[in-house]
Amino acid sequence: MIISGSIEETRKQVKEWKAQGLSVALVPTMGYLHEGHKSLMERARKENDKVVVSIFVNPMQFGPNEDYEAYPRDLDRDSGICEDAGVDWIFHPEVEEMYGPDFSGYVDMHTLPEKLCGASRPVHFRGVQTVVSKLFHIVPADRAYFGQKDAQQLAIIRRMVMDLNFDIEIIGCPIIREEDGLAKSSRNTYLSEDERRQAVILNQSLEEAMKAIEAGEKDASKVKAIIEKKIGTCSLAKIDYVEVVNFDNIQPIETIEGNVLIAIAVYIGTTRLIDNRIIM
Ligand code: AMP
Repeated sequence: MIISGSIEETRKQVKEWKAQGLSVALVPTMGYLHEGHKSLMERARKENDKVVVSIFVNPMQFGPNEDYEAYPRDLDRDSGICEDAGVDWIFHPEVEEMYGPDFSGYVDMHTLPEKLCGASRPVHFRGVQTVVSKLFHIVPADRAYFGQKDAQQLAIIRRMVMDLNFDIEIIGCPIIREEDGLAKSSRNTYLSEDERRQAVILNQSLEEAMKAIEAGEKDASKVKAIIEKKIGTCSLAKIDYVEVVNFDNIQPIETIEGNVLIAIAVYIGTTRLIDNRIIM
């Protein structure tokens, strides 16, 4: 397994693989890898000849008061996890390699980024789309793997690939959870013991919503109310948003029908966590 910080070297290697007729997968990450990331790598490993993982904490997708500096980083540990998962190449650029001194381009879109996480993180998805576009150019892969944990991100990337004709297949992978149901996240490391115990409320509230839907509830506002009530029982939890939207265009819906995304963001103490259910 090679670790490279060079755009030129990485692109050259991927082009060589492609010239040899090999299929290539890209798994974009910000590092501090866990089982969720590993599941994407393992799926990529099964479905492709070569697997490239990018590890880059992208400053452009963090707002001015967000956790860019504090975001956990550990390349040694990450490379061990990649090696175990059979990854061929880690692309780990410095910020200067990705964004030169005169960098001024970006990729953005209307509608999909405006709600949910985009409402409380206004520059976030512009940063995500820009860095993912750059990664798709640097690593001209056949397939890229994204987690449904970041469901709005997945919907935006799918839309972006369609709208801008990127020649890459986007594969969405299921959410990997801790034993108690908390979705795995690099940010879980910010939680104190007490906060970690209470963080299960995100998944529990979604479970209750799904039970109601399975029992026939179709009214999106009632589903939201079930989630809000459950989270309200938790002393350390503060809701950022609870939304029921169409999964394809991320617009609010009144009735549970078609492709539905139930998405929540909740502060547990000062740590903002997200979780969701997708109904297809
Ligand atoms: P991040 O490093 O947080 O940017 O995540 C990199 C990729 O891993 C994204 O496509 C995430 O959706 C995915 N991911 C993060 N956590 C999980 C999880 N618990 N289960 C599945 N995929 C995940």
